[in-house]
Amino acid sequence: ASGYTLLRDPHHNKGLAFTEKERDAHYLRGLLPPAVFSQELQEKRLMHNLRQYEVPLHRYMAMMDLQETNERLFYKLLIDNVEELLPVVYTPTVGEACQKYGSIFSRPQGLYISLKEKGKILEILKNWPEKSIQVIVVTDGERILGLGDLGCQGMGIPVGKLSLYTALGGVRPSACLPITIDVGTNNDQLLKDEFYIGLKHKRATGQEYAELLDEFMCAVKQNYGEKVLIQFEDFANHNAFELLARYRSTHLVFNDDIQGTASVVLAGIIAALKLVGGTLADHTFLFLGAGEAGTGIAELIALEMSKRTKAPLEQTRKKIWLVDSKVIETHLKSMLVKGLIVSSRRESLQHFKKPWAHEHEPIKGLLDAVKAVKPTVLIGSSGAGKTFTKEVVQAMASLNKKPLILALSNPTSQSECTAEEAYTWSKGRAIFASGSPFDSVEYNGKVFVPGQANNAYIFPGLGLGLIISGAIRVHDDMLLAASEALAAQVTQENFDRGLIYPPFTNIRKISAHIAAKVAAKAYELGLASHLPQPKDLVKFAESCMYSPAYRSYR
Ligand code: NAP
Ligand code: MN
Repeated sequence: ASGYTLLRDPHHNKGLAFTEKERDAHYLRGLLPPAVFSQELQEKRLMHNLRQYEVPLHRYMAMMDLQETNERLFYKLLIDNVEELLPVVYTPTVGEACQKYGSIFSRPQGLYISLKEKGKILEILKNWPEKSIQVIVVTDGERILGLGDLGCQGMGIPVGKLSLYTALGGVRPSACLPITIDVGTNNDQLLKDEFYIGLKHKRATGQEYAELLDEFMCAVKQNYGEKVLIQFEDFANHNAFELLARYRSTHLVFNDDIQGTASVVLAGIIAALKLVGGTLADHTFLFLGAGEAGTGIAELIALEMSKRTKAPLEQTRKKIWLVDSKVIETHLKSMLVKGLIVSSRRESLQHFKKPWAHEHEPIKGLLDAVKAVKPTVLIGSSGAGKTFTKEVVQAMASLNKKPLILALSNPTSQSECTAEEAYTWSKGRAIFASGSPFDSVEYNGKVFVPGQANNAYIFPGLGLGLIISGAIRVHDDMLLAASEALAAQVTQENFDRGLIYPPFTNIRKISAHIAAKVAAKAYELGLASHLPQPKDLVKFAESCMYSPAYRSYR
């Protein structure tokens, strides 16, 4: 192989870090300037350059450029500077990147499967250069973050999520495959945009949609076998619940918006019990928002409560209440009713809401719901901002000594309330965490540090656990195991600062612990195929993790 080719291969290129001997052995003389840099010096130089960019999107583009020229250096940067770079390669910047994907698009970073490829999906999978795939993240682009339908431009999401699988969970980059399924878009702006990269027609639905997805799911299993993890990401909720229900018994599937969110929020709640007191079953939960996140979290809380108390699920669900917003059609008019999900509404409810329709008189607004339900924990998962008003927070504070308030809606502008509002309106008594990051708040001379319920705490470790055990199905008990493992990583020092999540700096260690617990559960349930079971699963998980250090070429 020529040195020139080596320099252009992102999996092997080391740039100025090629040693004198390597330069001789691999025909690199003259193709590089004389200086030899260590990987650390390359990292220092690149971090310095990145920090010069004031526009976040430019940082994102510089990182993508690095990923495409020197993969190991890209991961070295991401791993060593995780808190600084997570918002660059993932939310919030990745959202802007998706919106502008058509114009910043330089190289296709994953597989595109559109309606045009119907009947040929297996062939297309074979076009991908890597043959041994362990994780696929797939989107159809219909609900990208909180930004809505971005069609084919949603590709930034699978690419970003998979770079976290590698950086935070240690899955080899070559084993990761980002896929975007393009069935059209209902985004009029994109349909009119001459630079739009996807199919220019409205979304296919119904049978046409189901058939394409079914062909995809079968082709993936045929090509990669039983143990490839397929993560559904940013599908609209009408498809998300259905796809998960349809494939969870035949494939190794996981929906991060439903299950990953549930697991990370449950972890925060379990940890918070140390601060607010009581057992899980002592608490009453009220959600604003009953979609993928809300009902996913609610179900996992009910499941954990049921495991802990041995009470049936139907009973533990009664401790959990949800409020949604529904357009009600009567013969006179149609109106938007925001209301508590109660039994009298059962007939007209989407199926994923039905388990939450408890006996109660109808209630419209959140404040009235708080007063009626008297929750100890309030969770925002509606996507609508500023909905935890002063009155709502004060009501929570008058009901509870330490109200637990989780404002999960993203991005920051959509947060139910800010960290400062939660602390000041509750006179410093709230335990608060949010979906988007907030800075620390000083109130009455005390510093409060809000936690961030970031899905990136869970899915990389969960995925690693599935891979190292050779799991063939995802079981809810594995999600519970992941939650407990994450909660166990919160230290007394974290609690003292009001935190219910550990800091991200130790994320690889945290992921290894989550992976070990998930793998242990897979063995226990008879769902593991990697035999015999390793003795020390934490050590084994750590030994399996990808390291971005350069290898020497002799
Ligand atoms: P979704 O499936 O579309 O669900 C949204 C739910 O909120 C629906 O039940 C909807 O009511 C309800 N809703 C919308 N506007 C409302 C309003 N003004 N008042 C009351 N209810 C309202 O969306 P999702 O995937 O669950 O995501 C919801 C939010 O959670 C997003 O902002 C997302 O960014 C955030 N999230 C955060 C995390 C995290 O923090 N780690 C993870 C995942 C999601 P109808 O059912 O009546 O339409
Ligand atoms: Mn998502």
